[in-house]
Amino acid sequence: MLYFIEVVLPLAVGKTFTYQVSQTEFHYIQEGMRVAVPFGKTKIYTALVISKHHNLPQLYQPKEIHQILDEKPVVNAIQIEHWKWIANYYMCSLGEVFRAAMPTGFILESETIVSSSNDENIDKSELQDDEFLILEALENQSSISIQEVSKILGKKTVLPILNKMLQKGVLVLQEEIKEVYKPKLIRYVKLHEAYSNQEQLTELLEILSRAKKQRELVLSYFQLNAREKKPISVKELLEFSNTTASVLKSLIDKDIFIEYHLNQDRVVFEEEEDLKINLSLAQNNALQSIESNFENHDVNLLHGVTASGKTEVYIKLIEKYIEHDKQVLFLLPEIALTTQLVQRLTAYFGNQVAVFHSKYTNNERVEVWNQVLESLEKAKIVIGVRSALFLPFSNLGLIVIDEEHEQTFKQQDPAPRYHARDAAIVLAKQHQAKVLLGSATPSLESYYNVSVSKYGLTTLSERFGNVVLPEIELIDLKDKYFRKRMNGHFSDVLLENITEVLGKSEQVILFQNRRGFSPYLECLTCGHVPHCPNCDVSLTYYKYKNQLKCHYCGHTIANPSHCHACNSVDLTTKGFGTEQIEEELKILFPNKKIGRMDQDTTRGKFGYEKIIDAFKNQEYDVLIGTQMLAKGLHFDNVTLVGVLNADNMLNQPHFRAYERAFQMLTQVSGRAGRSEKKGKVLIQTYNPYHNTIQQVLNNDYMSMFKEQIYERRNFNYPPFYRLIKFTLKNRDFDKLKESSMWLYNVLKQNLDMPILGPEEPPISRVRNEYIRTILIKIPNEAHLGNTKKTIQKILNSFESIAFYKSVKITTNVDYY
Ligand code: ADP
Ligand code: ZN
Ligand code: ZN
Repeated sequence: MLYFIEVVLPLAVGKTFTYQVSQTEFHYIQEGMRVAVPFGKTKIYTALVISKHHNLPQLYQPKEIHQILDEKPVVNAIQIEHWKWIANYYMCSLGEVFRAAMPTGFILESETIVSSSNDENIDKSELQDDEFLILEALENQSSISIQEVSKILGKKTVLPILNKMLQKGVLVLQEEIKEVYKPKLIRYVKLHEAYSNQEQLTELLEILSRAKKQRELVLSYFQLNAREKKPISVKELLEFSNTTASVLKSLIDKDIFIEYHLNQDRVVFEEEEDLKINLSLAQNNALQSIESNFENHDVNLLHGVTASGKTEVYIKLIEKYIEHDKQVLFLLPEIALTTQLVQRLTAYFGNQVAVFHSKYTNNERVEVWNQVLESLEKAKIVIGVRSALFLPFSNLGLIVIDEEHEQTFKQQDPAPRYHARDAAIVLAKQHQAKVLLGSATPSLESYYNVSVSKYGLTTLSERFGNVVLPEIELIDLKDKYFRKRMNGHFSDVLLENITEVLGKSEQVILFQNRRGFSPYLECLTCGHVPHCPNCDVSLTYYKYKNQLKCHYCGHTIANPSHCHACNSVDLTTKGFGTEQIEEELKILFPNKKIGRMDQDTTRGKFGYEKIIDAFKNQEYDVLIGTQMLAKGLHFDNVTLVGVLNADNMLNQPHFRAYERAFQMLTQVSGRAGRSEKKGKVLIQTYNPYHNTIQQVLNNDYMSMFKEQIYERRNFNYPPFYRLIKFTLKNRDFDKLKESSMWLYNVLKQNLDMPILGPEEPPISRVRNEYIRTILIKIPNEAHLGNTKKTIQKILNSFESIAFYKSVKITTNVDYY
């Protein structure tokens, strides 16, 4: 009898591969274990076993595996099922899903590069011979590929050794060296062990009797310690004792206090906090409505206005599931939002909360993976962004998707281009779990599903604690410019309000959507605008750096002193971005501290968090920002939100433009007046009578919904049609044109439905590759599976045409 296993390789190939194993191996191996396998001439990959059988493949002679990497499965059957669904639905390979799903450290391959962690705590004398050899090699070179390790050790089978070294922290993956995870660290203090008993303590207080302040600080520490039974942060201690940092410093210098740091996300509570949440009547009704809707709906939408206290409702609901020993997954659209949420959830649930996202190191991600795999207490509730969906849950009871309308839930590149909300609903079904979607501005799709009774609906229409929704006022830019009431980009009304609010020591948020509104340089003599040589876009002007830069490929040039077309020195800047707003504001309010949050100021790993924290701690009076500010952040002291120009959002060439403009404006408005102080929102616009602007003004989601649904039905868009978008790229313009025409024609001949294209997108060349797109609109009545099969066949024929080989195609199902 022959023994085979069927494995998935982390590659973009559509099929699985068969490898031969011995009888003993066959009996040892279980589905969901990893094996190291040779592939091609020299490569080694980590593959995932998805089945075992005795059928010799007909087309090739199977190779033998190198070795088995696991003692028990690291991936469960539900996951494999779910990944197959994703591959099938989003038209990509199972290998691509596998690659996206697992932390990199789980899928080492011959090309993977490792380095020494240079951790001083590692005792070299305890290393195995092989491990020692590898570390020695790394003393002479900073990094080394796994292939090279194989040569050094003279073995083919090195993955288990490397896996172990990664786990022990002796090695790190190269990709991490570039971006080491620097979690937000909080400073804590504790009393030196030397003073742990009463006698020693009395002695200490005696010694300190002459340093009154220091003595008081020590006493305050005791009071706090007795009360809280959790780590005491420096900030808390200083506030509580009303002393200065210098007093604490002298105690630390004397070794009486020891300082230490904890990662904010991973603070371990010694004892469960007993933070109590008392739901308001409205919140309580919402909770009951959700629970009763769950009796006949698997998915329920919580439509709650901004600051209605949705988070508290989620918490109370989550509690019921973990009481029944179920796992809970909480998905967020942005890593930047996790810190605020983790704090709120850990304050309530203590150590039952785990966090999972791509900014964690490989080891941390592997750790959470294993905790979920073993259904540990520590990972009862997992908070994460879309990739947390791939964790090895075995017993999910509830998935909460907060800010469900956010487009970041849809993965763009690379494949799998999945929508985390939709994939979560499928996953929940597999677990027979429930899904709660939450938003103040639900996506049209979700609300449509409510309207046809596919989802349940719960509404929270008031803010928590008698806080009222902010008052919104429109400012007509045409009128203001005409009457010369503008100062730069600020109307008189906006400036008056900023002055007033800052005078009361309250804070201001200013919103300027960057997209399509970057400043560029223009020649006043000939009209020439400098463009990127590699992409079809104008270069963005950066005043501060005195540079022009391409947003797509990063190409940078010094700010020219004269026009490259006509040599004129009369150059001007057009358009306005956040940087210009910041500049104007600094001149208008020279004594105020102004912060800016956009792609450029948040580049570093924790860029967002730093700015959010600084604003929260009132280190800035005004925060200027882009899209990011429209997400579910909570600031107590913000009473004014200003939108500098609402129109550019309305003018996007996208079928979701109005829906998104409504969501963004409503969400950004929702940042105002979230505590006792009433908030105000000022929206500057050239189109005060535009329907969407009026809907925002009147907080009228239903009108927006009805109007947009009508348009979508009329113009064949979701939720009535499903979209599949193909993007074709090539450096050769003619070849691209010809091949996209070929694809379009063949699709047209074989599919009886609207097909648009081949179209040149607004940005039709990036990094020297030309781009064409084709959009298929599949009516809901059509058979989706069959349509996709036909499409896949056509794509296969396309790929078999030798002349088109170099043309790259990406497929985006449910293009968002
Ligand atoms: P949303 O997510 O709906 O925008 P949040 O959950 O952020 O709103 O709640 C807004 C504010 O109200 C937060 O500061 C939150 O702590 C507070 N809050 C909401 N519900 C309660 C409650 N039941 N008890 C105490 N504070 C609450
Ligand atoms: Zn010119
Ligand atoms: Zn470019």
